[in-house]
Amino acid sequence: MLRALGADARPVRRPEELTEIDGLVIPGGESTVIDKLSRAFGVAEPLKAAIAGGLPVYGTCAGLILLADTVRDSIQGQQSFGGLDVVVRRNAFGTQLDSFETDLDIPELGADPVHAVFIRAPIVEEVGPAARPLAELEDGRVVAVEQGNLLGTSFHPEVTGDTRFHEYFLRKLG
Ligand code: GLN
Repeated sequence: MLRALGADARPVRRPEELTEIDGLVIPGGESTVIDKLSRAFGVAEPLKAAIAGGLPVYGTCAGLILLADTVRDSIQGQQSFGGLDVVVRRNAFGTQLDSFETDLDIPELGADPVHAVFIRAPIVEEVGPAARPLAELEDGRVVAVEQGNLLGTSFHPEVTGDTRFHEYFLRKLG
C-alpha cells in the first residue's frame, strides 16, 4: 500500500533500521508477539524514544494496541510502546469468528465512506485529552484516533483498495 503511494517502504526488525526511516507503520498481527519480539530484539526502547521525539507512527489493529498508553485484556506482562493517550481493549468484539466489515463516515478523508475490516479487533474505550477520535461505529464506539504524528485504527485499511488512511499518514511525514 505504501509503495503504491510512492513511499520507499521497508521492513523494520532491528534497532538500527529505526534510524533509516521517516515514519513507521506497526501492522496488525498479534500485539503480544510484537511486544515480546520488539523487546527481545532491542527495538522497543529506541522506538519509544523515537515516538517521544515525534516519529510519525501509524498502528493498525495490533499496532493500535501497541501505541496505546493503556491496554485492557492484555496478557500477563504485556507492554505497549505507548504514545497515544487512549485506553484500548484487546479482542473487544470477541473471537476471530466475530470479525466483521462495515462502512465508516470519516469526514477528514472525504465524503465517501471508508470500508473497514475488523479482524479480532480492539476498540478504543477511552480517549484522553491529548488524542482525538477520527472514526466511530454507529453505536459511538471509537475505532480510529489521532494524536499529532500518531495515528491508530482498530481496522485494516491495507486489505481494501482504499488508500486514504495511508495517504493521510504519509502527509505526516512531510
Ligand atoms: N487480537 C490481536 C491482538 O490482540 C490483534 C488482531 C489484529 O491485528 N488483526 O494483538
